[in-house]
Amino acid sequence: MSSQKPVIVWFRQDLRLSDNPALSQAVESGAPVIPVYVLDEETPRTESGDWRLGGAQRWWLHHSLERLEESLRDKGAGLVLRSGPADEVIPALVQETQSQAVFWNRCYEPFAVTRDRAIKSALDEAGVAVHSFGANLIHEPWTLQTKAGEPFKVFTPFYKAALAKGEPAEPLSPPKRIAAATLPQGDRLSDWDLLPQKPDWAGGLRDTWTPGETGARGRLAGFIGNTLGHYKKDRNRPDLPHSSRLSPHLHWGEVSPRQIWHSVRRHQHESGGGKIDSAAEAFLREVIWREFSYNLLFHWPELPARNWKPEFDDFPWRDDAKALRAWQRGQTGFPIVDAAMRELYATGWMHNRSRMIVASFLTKDLLIHWREGEAWFWDTLVDADLANNSASWQWTAGSGADAAPYFRIFNPVSQGERFDPEGAYVRQWVPELRGLPDGYIHKPWDAPADVLERAGVRLGKDYPERLVDHKQARRRALDAYETIKKDKAA
Ligand code: FAD
Repeated sequence: MSSQKPVIVWFRQDLRLSDNPALSQAVESGAPVIPVYVLDEETPRTESGDWRLGGAQRWWLHHSLERLEESLRDKGAGLVLRSGPADEVIPALVQETQSQAVFWNRCYEPFAVTRDRAIKSALDEAGVAVHSFGANLIHEPWTLQTKAGEPFKVFTPFYKAALAKGEPAEPLSPPKRIAAATLPQGDRLSDWDLLPQKPDWAGGLRDTWTPGETGARGRLAGFIGNTLGHYKKDRNRPDLPHSSRLSPHLHWGEVSPRQIWHSVRRHQHESGGGKIDSAAEAFLREVIWREFSYNLLFHWPELPARNWKPEFDDFPWRDDAKALRAWQRGQTGFPIVDAAMRELYATGWMHNRSRMIVASFLTKDLLIHWREGEAWFWDTLVDADLANNSASWQWTAGSGADAAPYFRIFNPVSQGERFDPEGAYVRQWVPELRGLPDGYIHKPWDAPADVLERAGVRLGKDYPERLVDHKQARRRALDAYETIKKDKAA
């Protein structure tokens, strides 16, 4: 065993061994390595919001840490689990283990940025080196700026600037071996109670996901090999499995955006372009949307809590606990909305088109504040991500950067008919409507009595009546918007 003092690798949202610069550099230093994960339930409780892990994220984390520990063991190391405020735990661990340096990959949540700066300066003072790396985005948020040197507020120029930077660096291979340090005592994962017990609502999550780096690699390979070719045409269809479903793996850093980028490029190259080219561009553009969200969060740290457009501070939101609950439970009486909300509850994930539909419905048809939707998604999504979630909710509500124009209020019936044309998505998640013919599957209230009877549907009994009339709700939303437009003009 080496006589050198050890170094700590602090895993956070980078639960992988490959393309992990913090880990690779720590290993290359030649010192024995102490890998650690800290469950910190203090730092994310901020004045402007409580961003402790939601239920679905906790489930994911448990399994991802199990996998990470196994992979580290395979390389000769292990994983130390500690809990508590990271700004106390990390310096204490440094002292306890007499470590000479700490390595980490950067996080971008405002509370994480503040915490990391504080830890770095405390360790600097103690003569302990901190080495931080960019690993979870292709471009660090401060490296893309407008010509005027400002952060981007609009996606398209951001996207062009990202492309103009050229191809990202090639991903790093995982270390062959990790020189093990004597590991200090850690917590037992099972003692963290990350998994739901009573009730155990995670059955649908277990059936749907394989958390961990190997699961992420399999998902990426399957998507590129089987589905990417359909992506451009069908990415908006919640009834088809044609998006990558990489979002939770990306959120937890089980795969890096650089790895995704280069795998797609390699496939493009090998398949000689054609249909793959435009599909690949459409897909990589979405990966850059993620970077845009991070750019917004980094430069506007209040994004998760405050309207990006301040005129929305006077928006006449409604308090309606009953309607909110009906939305959360998939009981709004609008089949596409209910299918999407039930998909979320069962699997911890929802298709992007469905997210836009349910977010428009909550904030415009029901006039309920986007923060309520953001909070529900935070608790139920396995990919709950502060940057993507807050940027996307504000985008849909109209209060965000580069937001959809306010008058773009989704009609849940025509959205359903267009993006779930045979009603397969509705039939999967709202089985009580299964017997309805396609022509009524998205608007059961229009079905004649005998059609409803044959399908075994009694509206108001087997399936709820509509919470609102969409036409009237749309008018009400536009009137509400007029009030803030007028305020602005006054
Ligand atoms: P793909 O279409 O395969 O895209 C690949 C990757 O690109 C995704 O994994 C994701 O990381 C990124 N991406 C795709 N679409 C977007 C987008 N519109 N904005 C930003 N990044 C994108 N995404 C999250 O990861 N976490 C969230 O908490 C989240 N909340 C959302 C809330 C609302 C109201 C809306 C409208 C969207 C939200 N999104 C969120 C963005 C998007 O819906 C998901 O990233 C996407 O559905 C994930 O599925 P996928 O991996 O199959 O995506």
